[in-house]
Amino acid sequence: MNESIERQIERLQTGGIIDMHFDLPMDLYEKRGRRDVLETEFLPEFQAGNISVLGAAIYIEDRYLPQNGLRVALDQIARLYAETAASRRFAICKTYREVQAAQEMGKIGFVITMEGVEPLGTDLNQLRVFYELGVRAIGLTHARTNSAGHGGIFAASGSPAEGLTPFGREVVRECEALGVIIDLAHINPAGFEEILLITTKPPIVSHTNVRRYYNIERNISDEEIRMVGERGGVIGVNSILVSPREEESTLDHYIDHIEHIAELIGIDSVGIGFDFFAFIFRQWPESRQKELAAKFTKPHFIPDLTNHSHARNLTRRLIERGFSDADVEKILRGNWLRIFKELL
Ligand SMILES: [Zn+2]
Repeated sequence: MNESIERQIERLQTGGIIDMHFDLPMDLYEKRGRRDVLETEFLPEFQAGNISVLGAAIYIEDRYLPQNGLRVALDQIARLYAETAASRRFAICKTYREVQAAQEMGKIGFVITMEGVEPLGTDLNQLRVFYELGVRAIGLTHARTNSAGHGGIFAASGSPAEGLTPFGREVVRECEALGVIIDLAHINPAGFEEILLITTKPPIVSHTNVRRYYNIERNISDEEIRMVGERGGVIGVNSILVSPREEESTLDHYIDHIEHIAELIGIDSVGIGFDFFAFIFRQWPESRQKELAAKFTKPHFIPDLTNHSHARNLTRRLIERGFSDADVEKILRGNWLRIFKELL
């Protein structure tokens, strides 16, 4: 009965935390001259936060496009495989069974995802290749326009009114046929709706915030949240766009986003997509940081939710805010595990 909150946190953390969006492959690629980056730079924080599964997102920066999108994507995956092979603590997971096996062995599992289909160019055959390499979730776009569609912009309105291109529709259909989860993060409002019209399986939104608290197209509206809920999908809450205001970018406000989604569509449809980005942002020179802020928006990192070692702070605050053990477990991992079980 009188379990201390420390014991309760420990117990809830032990089953592991699943974060469906982490820009790991691009960082491994940028550090390709080094070895054991995963073990030396990432493992301590993953362990401190009891991280069990990460969505490892392939993302191609503008400076590599259009010529080198495919090449850099392959190199990012190559670094992920090489780093994983060099350690006993990690595993790349292509199926639900492999996720379970990684957990049983105490390994941290990577589900490879793709944020923007730039690596495919306009060649649907490449989708099959990336599937074979282990890509299991795909979001068609980042904030920019590509061969598949248009990204939602970092303003309340203004992206093109049209949805997907014919190629984008082909990619979506082929993803469903192959068993690649469709990720609705970043796509513009018209594309969001169109994807739901041409698919039947539960969608995910790997990392997003709610427009109620930060009203930009890049986040999702109450109507969109309901559409995901109706289809049994899961929405991962992002840590870097919880508010346009720095002073409101707090752990409590992060939880407000979780609560809002749970109020609209139930606790079974909300999970984590931290999108921790401070470790990359802080490696950049100031000029590049300013460039990012000008192109998108200034990211407001939550002081006590900035990296994976901080996952315990979230668990503690969820308990303090009155979430039941069962609810906390669903948010931390259970809902994503359900999606993996249904779709992978
Ligand atoms: Zn993103």
